[in-house]
Amino acid sequence: MTPHCPACAASIPEGAERCPGCGTAAPPPAGDGAAGPPPDLPPRYRVERFLGRGAMGRVFLCRDVALDVEVAVKVLPSDLASDPEAVEQVRGEARIAARLRDGPGILPLHGFESHGGTWFLVEEYAPGGTLQDLLKTRGPLPEAEVRRIGAEVAEALAFAHAARVLHRDVKPSNVLLDARGRARLADFGLAKAIAEASSRRSGSSVAGTPTYMAPETMWDGKADERSDLYGLGCLLFECATGGRPFEGVYHEIARAKTAAAEVPDPRVRSPALSAGFA
Ligand code: ADP
Repeated sequence: MTPHCPACAASIPEGAERCPGCGTAAPPPAGDGAAGPPPDLPPRYRVERFLGRGAMGRVFLCRDVALDVEVAVKVLPSDLASDPEAVEQVRGEARIAARLRDGPGILPLHGFESHGGTWFLVEEYAPGGTLQDLLKTRGPLPEAEVRRIGAEVAEALAFAHAARVLHRDVKPSNVLLDARGRARLADFGLAKAIAEASSRRSGSSVAGTPTYMAPETMWDGKADERSDLYGLGCLLFECATGGRPFEGVYHEIARAKTAAAEVPDPRVRSPALSAGFA
């Protein structure tokens, strides 16, 4: 299977070390080997299985034996864990994200901890996986379901924005589905902070997911509440049509988004959608 960029989802040619679109490091080959050696976690967290690997590092389903609950543990890549500036940046964002954890539609962050040289985030385990995985297996979703997901994510953003917090990386892989199938927005500020720290270390200038980024953030990095809503719009377009409103590499997408007088109409791809939804 062609590998895809964990940050912008562009196809990465076999053997390439970085994404041709945004410069993010290519993911390792899929399969059990992707889990690598077991992470060095404190005894409180017993690893049950490897869940996946993304821009934020390896993710494991663990049992928190102190509270006897399942949690998702995200282990920071070792180059970031050994970089005090990166750890401070993630800690700052984790403190902000933790303030939101009781909000509606928000996947709670429980901690940012270290053990030996390992740094890891502890968050609620979402058994339904990511919205990105759901779209891969089911393709475009019925309008009513997209509306519900949109309302749930919008509620999370409204809560965060009222607390003056931006998400900065709204996209299907940051929306997780809980045991009841409800959409929960994860990794407020964290996904972006980790991408920024990785690109600072790798010398690449791009940190973000061009498909979902608002044009102003692509040109000069300035974001406000509206930039999160732009990401939500792109996410809903993808849920409803199975395609993305803008395709291409970073600069092509940035140009197309800036030049577009109107955003593409999702009914061109999915004519059954209602005008109100479009
Ligand atoms: P991405 O870069 O795609 O946003 P992450 O590093 O956040 O990825 O996560 C990688 C993978 O781990 C996800 O695609 C998902 O399958 C799994 N995962 C991440 N967080 C959770 C969670 N809280 N509950 C369940 N699975 C998760």
